[in-house]
Amino acid sequence: MALYVMKFGGSSVGTTERMQHVARRIVEKKEQGHKCVVVVSAMGDTTDDLIDQAKRLNDTPPVREMDMLLTTGEQMSVALLSIAIHQYGHEAVSYTGWQAGFRTDETHGRARILDIQAERVLQALDDNQIVIVAGFQGMTNAGEITTLGRGGSDTTAVALAAAIKADVCEIYTDVDGIYSTDPRIVRCARKLNEISYDEMLELAHLGAAVLHPRAVEYAKHNNVCLVVRSSFNHNEGTYVKEEAVMEQGVVVSGIAYDKNVARISIIGVPDEPGVLATVFGALANEQIDVDIIVQSGVQRGEADFSFTTALSDRERALQVIEKLHSSLPYREVTFNDVALVKVSIVGAGMVSHPGVAAKMFEVISKIGVSIKMVSTSEIKVSCVIEADRLQEVISELHTSFGLDALEEVVVGGPKDRR
Ligand code: ADP
Ligand code: ASP
Ligand code: MG
Repeated sequence: MALYVMKFGGSSVGTTERMQHVARRIVEKKEQGHKCVVVVSAMGDTTDDLIDQAKRLNDTPPVREMDMLLTTGEQMSVALLSIAIHQYGHEAVSYTGWQAGFRTDETHGRARILDIQAERVLQALDDNQIVIVAGFQGMTNAGEITTLGRGGSDTTAVALAAAIKADVCEIYTDVDGIYSTDPRIVRCARKLNEISYDEMLELAHLGAAVLHPRAVEYAKHNNVCLVVRSSFNHNEGTYVKEEAVMEQGVVVSGIAYDKNVARISIIGVPDEPGVLATVFGALANEQIDVDIIVQSGVQRGEADFSFTTALSDRERALQVIEKLHSSLPYREVTFNDVALVKVSIVGAGMVSHPGVAAKMFEVISKIGVSIKMVSTSEIKVSCVIEADRLQEVISELHTSFGLDALEEVVVGGPKDRR
């Protein structure tokens, strides 16, 4: 008998039939004699729909009220799933994040978990219940409802698995594991049997939606046995672990992309010490993350620089820079008018293989795509390009770095989100 945390994403519970299917999957595990704690996301597009509804009422809805609104999506799912399980003759109990003991800090919209007081969950397990916990939510010490950021139900699952010392944390989704790249973009993506926490962390940070980066961080720090698998079939999934066995000679193990990218340029700032500190200090004060920063030529005592930030933070970033204008003279601020995407290659093997970045640039330039910005680290190279050539660029890179599988992937279920 083992203790499982099973997490089901939005597309796995998008309809009543899928909800029933998931309920049967859980009951199957319970009938094998295991203890089950289940984490569920909001059904299908619910979170996106709730955001749209709020935006129709207010361009910048208050973050507190957004958390109040979005947590209802998960609350609906847990209750429905519990109701479905009862229909199959099993005892189940649903909890909101706060009932399950998730305490977070006060950052509405992307709160961090401070601790989990899991007594209630453990008691219900002792009472032979299937415990169903709402993903992506918690409560502050002051009793305010918070959410953990988009895709945060993965983090709920892994953090709960660590808190209750589960034997395994299974992330059930609409693909049957972690692939060398998004199998919806490249049909000959290769399924990985195993991947290291570090490589997965990098891929997740760089946009691979299959796991939320904080979930991978949690798993690494708490050594949680984490597996990603399909809710539509029983195929072996992908294990995320400390020492993953990768294929011999593999330099690049995965390719990720992130469409949530905006480039902002500040033109004609005085070439003086302290300018970068002023701009990026002001952005940091507003909790705006900056990714790539490039300073270009200095002429007549003036410099230009560009940086990337999340597209969803662009308006706020522009407002921050506008406010600085009285103390920081600059000539102009511009932002990209065509959609951009950041494409990244990742691989622990890169450290010992020079020339990987050069090869990436060559592959991209050969198909006539221009690279707008670049950033590198020991295990990744990222290039910002125009979004309309994304599929072609990823496919070329996938082939050139020897990642193509022999057979095309059959993706487990229709994608009704995004
Ligand atoms: P869920 O609703 O289950 O949380 P997500 O949409 O968040 O599902 O994550 C699953 C999706 O992640 C897949 O449908 C796939 O398109 C995408 N994805 C991106 N990169 C990868 C990758 N490297 N391997 C597998 N899936 C990936
Ligand atoms: N429902 C939330 C979202 O769509 C959380 C999650 O699915 O993990 O982002
Ligand atoms: Mg997800």
